[in-house]
Amino acid sequence: MKALVKAKAERGLWMQQIEKPSCGPNDVLIKIRKTAICGTDLHIFKWDEWSQKTIPVGMNVGHEFVGEVVELGSQVSGFALGDRVSGEGHITCGHCRNCRAGKRHLCRNTEGVGVNIPGAFAEYLAIPAVNAFKIPDNISDDLAAIFDPYGNAAHTTLSFDLVGEDVLITGAGPIGIMAVAIARHVGARHVVVTDINPYRLALAEKMGASRVVNVSDESLSDVMLDLGMDEGFDVGLEMSGNGHAFRDMLSKMNHGGRVALLGIPSSELAIDWNEVIFKGLFIKGIYGREMFETWYKMASMLQSGLDLDPIITHHYHVDDFQQGFEMMESGQCGKVILNWD
Ligand code: NAD
Ligand code: ZN
Repeated sequence: MKALVKAKAERGLWMQQIEKPSCGPNDVLIKIRKTAICGTDLHIFKWDEWSQKTIPVGMNVGHEFVGEVVELGSQVSGFALGDRVSGEGHITCGHCRNCRAGKRHLCRNTEGVGVNIPGAFAEYLAIPAVNAFKIPDNISDDLAAIFDPYGNAAHTTLSFDLVGEDVLITGAGPIGIMAVAIARHVGARHVVVTDINPYRLALAEKMGASRVVNVSDESLSDVMLDLGMDEGFDVGLEMSGNGHAFRDMLSKMNHGGRVALLGIPSSELAIDWNEVIFKGLFIKGIYGREMFETWYKMASMLQSGLDLDPIITHHYHVDDFQQGFEMMESGQCGKVILNWD
């Protein structure tokens, strides 16, 4: 079958013929219809330091997908041939303490589809059936293909009660922008978003931000005054991985504020811990999606009026993947979809 492979230890990905995965007794085999490009895939494409340490050359990459179940392992129940599914790309061990407690997102032995094990940028993907998620009929293929990053946004944003709260989101990447729409959907008051990329800030505004702030030429303090916020943000969602953004967030939080950290800093990052201690802040790290509470909430929010369509800005046929990756690299986009049909 056709698959996108990290075939050489240098910038790029290569379309190659590789062996179709076999469907183990507990797996479903999925024929891929659409995939989306994640920031992680871009890191692998660019072959940065993290990828060089993490990705074995020869890996079939990709983990954001929607497709159709075409084969069922002998032990699988609850799925039928033809089911339209996306799936959780974190494969958990099932036997550690957290897995056994139903807290699979905290599994200490997680493996990543398209990172440590063969991925979704391929004609077929085999994953454990428990990781597949059936997509309700009224949700489009495009949206189903981005359930993975939508799940990062949902897991982070739904970590704290947002009703009537003032929320600061640092980083208007695709995940930050989806977080804006979710925060609005669940009833936040002000949703303020920072970035340095005007294209993405405009998209965040379209998705319902009260105010977007380009921190290269505007100060967050002025915006807060403008909005009549004289105390500080109740909730902070860090979605940039940028140290300046995180430090700015800590200084703008109200006492007792709650902060969720999704963004991954590229190296060690110093903060003023006095902000955390004397303000009594709560800080929560976020990894992946809750299995599978986040997935059910994602489907339900779309079915109850959450509109994420504007986040999908570009489509390419997978044979033109190069253009898709270059678009992602430019930052002049939301989510980029690759069609496999
Ligand atoms: P992205 O790189 O597309 O978005 C990050 C955004 O932050 C960009 O738009 C960038 O312009 C902006 N930014 C840069 N400097 C800034 C500053 N000083 N202030 C405000 N914004 C600034 O990434 P994404 O795909 O939207 O993901 C968001 C973050 O979450 C990334 O750091 C990513 O690595 C991380 N991530 C974490 C998990 C997890 O499980 N924890 C999963 C997926 C992604
Ligand atoms: Zn486990």
